[in-house]
Amino acid sequence: MKAHDGMYIDGAWRPAAGRDTIPVVNPADEQVIAEVPAGGAEDVDAAVRAARAALPAWAATAPAERAARIAALRDVLVARKDEIAETVTAELGAPLPFSQAVHAGVPILVAGSYAGLAASYAFEEKVGNSTVYAEPVGVVGAITPWNYPLHQIVAKVAPALAAGCTIVLKPAEDTPLTAQLFAEAVHEAGVPAGVFNLVTGLGPVAGQALAEHEGVDLVSFTGSTAVGRKIGATAGAAVKRVALELGGKSANVILPSADLAKAVGVGVANVMGNSGQTCSAWTRMLVHTSQYDEAVALAAEAAAKYGDRIGPLVNAEQHARVRGYIERGVAEGARLVAGGPEAPREQGYFVSPTVFADVTPEMTVAQEEIFGPVVSLIRYEDEDDALRIANGTVYGLAGAVWAGDEAEAVAFARRMDTGQVDINGGRFNPLAPFGGYKQSGVGRELGSHGLAEYLQTKSLQF
Ligand code: NAD
Repeated sequence: MKAHDGMYIDGAWRPAAGRDTIPVVNPADEQVIAEVPAGGAEDVDAAVRAARAALPAWAATAPAERAARIAALRDVLVARKDEIAETVTAELGAPLPFSQAVHAGVPILVAGSYAGLAASYAFEEKVGNSTVYAEPVGVVGAITPWNYPLHQIVAKVAPALAAGCTIVLKPAEDTPLTAQLFAEAVHEAGVPAGVFNLVTGLGPVAGQALAEHEGVDLVSFTGSTAVGRKIGATAGAAVKRVALELGGKSANVILPSADLAKAVGVGVANVMGNSGQTCSAWTRMLVHTSQYDEAVALAAEAAAKYGDRIGPLVNAEQHARVRGYIERGVAEGARLVAGGPEAPREQGYFVSPTVFADVTPEMTVAQEEIFGPVVSLIRYEDEDDALRIANGTVYGLAGAVWAGDEAEAVAFARRMDTGQVDINGGRFNPLAPFGGYKQSGVGRELGSHGLAEYLQTKSLQF
């Protein structure tokens, strides 16, 4: 596949300071499809300097012009959506229809939403005898994971551009080609040199150098809680703004009045999409004891139907990790009703859609983020029991509630310790704030709440 052998810094592709490279592997057939440079502290420093130099002019650019550049970026993403989908499929392994609809489609929606918000946001307001200005935070260090490679980039870069910030992006090592394609799109959209910069590289090298760089004003990180904790500590020590979008272990709560078949079917599909590599996936399905056996049968059937339509996991390490979790579930007494730890194919990092029944809330598969196509059915006795189980993990990123009556579902959702809840299968809204309670993170992405993360306020009194 096409790959740049340099970094996108100050509006041009430049050779990396060192010679190290990172191989990019297609997880469906385990073949190396490209190599990208493994940047280090020197590359990060050059990118941060470029971003800092570009900051005054971009921050002073009228919001309408920033909006026009984001709209142009959206248009390039639309024009190149097939190429984006093919690239994501090649390096992440997602089936092409899913890459087209979600991996290429959602970033177009999000970029479009920020073109609108940049033009309409109140960057200035009157409060009594004061004028309050929302000003850009400055240089943003964005560190992103591989599971939604373009969405997670756009969810940071679009609001940062709208706010008037400049950016250095360090994408995940598994999916750098999508990030390079995005840098091309930014260039084509006419975003001025230095406003957006890309450094590919390893997390503990390039990522850490970016998080620690004193020329960065805000670190926006999406990834694991373990790395997020480190980045939060580094940012705290430097008294630097930080946004953390971390892991999840979300509950899908099916109340007895719900349409059980629909709730189970949508719930299983929610976990299997992207091969279970979704931080907000509803990996714990909570079912009333009176409907439990029926839900188990429906879930097993839904997972079996998924069969071959599921893509591989991203890499060999995740493949081993997820299969290890399935073995752990069996060892702790959960009952496999679909899938299992055996690799279904000889080649590629595939795991079968897996359903566990008889899962108790304290089991490892009910507490830890598996990040694979595994759903656990947990039995509850009454609503308070369901709430206790739903809230009984260190995470609080997302969730779902199903009930016959919307008001009943809303009343339950309001008691959940989580940042986002879908009611009876609610649709994706690119303007709805997304982010975690508890150890799922700090801050929000998307919509005006996401934009506010990249702004700081100044008040003038008259
Ligand atoms: P990860 O934390 O290992 O890596 C994420 C990014 O951080 C990568 O770019 C990586 O190179 C970089 N990184 C790694 N070590 C670093 C360090 N010491 N300093 C700076 N940067 C470093 O996570 P992952 O395995 O790539 O992604 C999966 C995780 O991401 C899951 O836990 C998932 O739940 C989480 N996630 C959360 C969200 C969300 O919005 N809350 C979205 C997607 C993924």
